[in-house]
Amino acid sequence: MNEFEGKRVMVVGLGVSGRAAARFLAARGARLALTDRRPDTPTADLPAAEIHLGEDDPAWLAGVRLLVASPGVPRDSALVAEARRRGVPVIGELELASRFVCGPLVAITGTNGKSTVTTMAGEILKRAGMNVFVGGNLGVPLVEAAGREFDALVVEVSSFQLETIETFHPRVAVHLNLTDDHFERYSGLEEYGRAKARIFENQDAGDFAILNRDDRNVIALAPGLRARVVSFGAGEPPSTGDAIWPEGNSLEFRIGSRRGRIDLSAFKLPGRHNLANAMAASAAALAIGAPLDAIGAALADFRPLAHRIEFVREWRGVVFIDDSKATNVGAVVEALEAIKPPVVLIAGGMDKGGDYAPLRKPLRERVKLAILIGAARDTMRRALDGAAEIATEPGLADAVRLAARVACPGDTVMLSPACSSFDQFRNYAERGEVFKELVRAL
Ligand code: ADP
Repeated sequence: MNEFEGKRVMVVGLGVSGRAAARFLAARGARLALTDRRPDTPTADLPAAEIHLGEDDPAWLAGVRLLVASPGVPRDSALVAEARRRGVPVIGELELASRFVCGPLVAITGTNGKSTVTTMAGEILKRAGMNVFVGGNLGVPLVEAAGREFDALVVEVSSFQLETIETFHPRVAVHLNLTDDHFERYSGLEEYGRAKARIFENQDAGDFAILNRDDRNVIALAPGLRARVVSFGAGEPPSTGDAIWPEGNSLEFRIGSRRGRIDLSAFKLPGRHNLANAMAASAAALAIGAPLDAIGAALADFRPLAHRIEFVREWRGVVFIDDSKATNVGAVVEALEAIKPPVVLIAGGMDKGGDYAPLRKPLRERVKLAILIGAARDTMRRALDGAAEIATEPGLADAVRLAARVACPGDTVMLSPACSSFDQFRNYAERGEVFKELVRAL
């Protein structure tokens, strides 16, 4: 008999992770009540007799002993609040999964670079011959790994997921950076940062915290952590402490008595942010015990993920780049730094409440025309007025047409939106695919 047998468990939110949690719980004999606000949620493959779609009703909570809330459930959900009021434990799929996984967890958070670093660290550990699970917020939910043994489990974790942890305890926790994002959910950077910092809250002295020392919001967490801190960053290394830093075409590190050099001469990803990503992934792999040759070889073979500064095509001497995954200002700042100016920038979409001002300097220095689209275009135009020449267009097709007309040989046209896609697309991936089709059709 296991702890879920015959128990009434409610899963709120039936996206990828909610469905995976439901399958996991059903396989362990839970009596499931599943619910989602979206009336058109597909249900055919769901393992439960009791499914509620549409408006919440607290009456469903009768007899519920555990509530698993999806990351996308609003923080002011009345159903979840009522469950808490009744003393029902509320956790997320990440917490549920972490109670059942066998093997050390490597967890990666930060505003930008999570997917890239998660994939990189996974590739490195695979290259080292380890049996590795790679997933979490990216791809396969962690609960799918429950009950199977791994040498390591590398998981991307979002601030939304970290809101509902209790005992989640990564052996290695990586915090990449913190810039404005998701202010539709959080009151500001402080509250958003607090959710992210929870990645460290169950660590102890035997664990590792990998921190970006170039991000003052991230490195400021160091004194409060119990885990051993390894910092990564550009420029001179700190005089003491465990650290990794770039040195010519290599990375150098010292972690306790272990010192060494990782060859980076064949690393192909553009930008200082990808150098930071490579340092973070290497530090995580070193903390788990990966050998140096595996790290160098995996980094040399690593290819950028789709929609992250992805080369699409050269057309009449103009390079087109798809950076649709840049859904916040911080990612666009890095992309503009990474690619060759002059740039015709296509940005806009759905506003997330952050500050666009950090874009003014790179716009002034590198952008010959910013084409703003979608619901946020007027808000952005006001915030960026005077920093570069600006045009507004309703949609992506109009923007690509205009960009193709004004770009000269040697220019770069880049979609790097600084906004989410939900005003006009299903998600960033669909937006990126549409962009690529439009560009290929020129
Ligand atoms: P996440 O999973 O955190 O969204 P991704 O690896 O998918 O991160 O990258 C998202 C966007 O952020 C892309 O546009 C990418 O080019 C950019 N990016 C990647 N790494 C960093 C970083 N370390 N700092 C800033 N931007 C980054």
